[in-house]
Amino acid sequence: MNGRFEDKVVLITGGGSGLGRATALQLAAEGAKLALVDVSEQGLAETAAQVEKASPGTEVVQIVADVSKDDEVRGYVERTRSAFGRIDGFFNNAGIEGKQNLTEDFGTEEFQKVVAINLQGVFLGLKHVLAVMRAQGSGHVVNTASVGGIRGVGNQSGYAAAKHGVVGLTRNSGVEYGQYGITVKAIAPGAIMTPMVEGSLKQLDPVDWEEAGRQFVSGNPARRFGRPEEVAYLVAFLLSDQASFINATTIAIDGGQSEQY
Ligand code: NAD
Repeated sequence: MNGRFEDKVVLITGGGSGLGRATALQLAAEGAKLALVDVSEQGLAETAAQVEKASPGTEVVQIVADVSKDDEVRGYVERTRSAFGRIDGFFNNAGIEGKQNLTEDFGTEEFQKVVAINLQGVFLGLKHVLAVMRAQGSGHVVNTASVGGIRGVGNQSGYAAAKHGVVGLTRNSGVEYGQYGITVKAIAPGAIMTPMVEGSLKQLDPVDWEEAGRQFVSGNPARRFGRPEEVAYLVAFLLSDQASFINATTIAIDGGQSEQY
């Protein structure tokens, strides 16, 4: 076992599925103690069960909370602190895709909902976790942006606004907190096969969604979806002290998609 996270406490939002779950499994394998946050109690229980199976004895705290609500974010940070006394790593990752539509047809309430979870949720996480890390004098944060946060993808007004905002928050807080021994970075994943992507492919083509998926990635230089564990390897590196001079920046993990024209 690589012990990069031995005695480290890592807080993960969206820990009940996809990228959050894969990262929980990777960090547990490297010795981390975990606080997992999600709106889905079932998702959290499943992640905790998978962690226990793969890395028996890992300390895991499961916290049901909505990242878009200030009091619930304060609550998950307090729970983590009272369980473990500190927060060394924070994967600020929970998000939703939202409905797809041309801007003129994009629902105002839908826009507000996507921004509340994907952008305000990330802001609130930073607000409460960075206070803890500043008091400690250390910590690493990884925010989940998207290729849709560094390029125009189309039909995603709410998602694009939120994810570009996540890149902006990352720049801002990285610049603010670097002087306190803290780093804040973001990842910009391309198409990674998680339940989120599977769900939108099934909306696109309920009958042959796997073929719809193949077409979806046929223009990607890698000609395939990314795997959640490929993202987890990157997040684990970025949350480790090995990445202590990477700050305020966003790293694409997309098979080259965002560099192609
Ligand atoms: P996922 O749907 O598998 O997991 C997201 C998790 O977040 C779910 O467990 C869900 O219950 C939780 N969640 C949703 N709203 C929440 C809220 N208000 N409070 C707390 N938890 C909430 O999706 P994923 O693919 O793992 O996505 C994780 C992150 O990665 C998201 O921010 C997403 O936008 C981003 N992302 C994913 C892809 C991809 O291709 N999968 C690409 C780019 C960015």
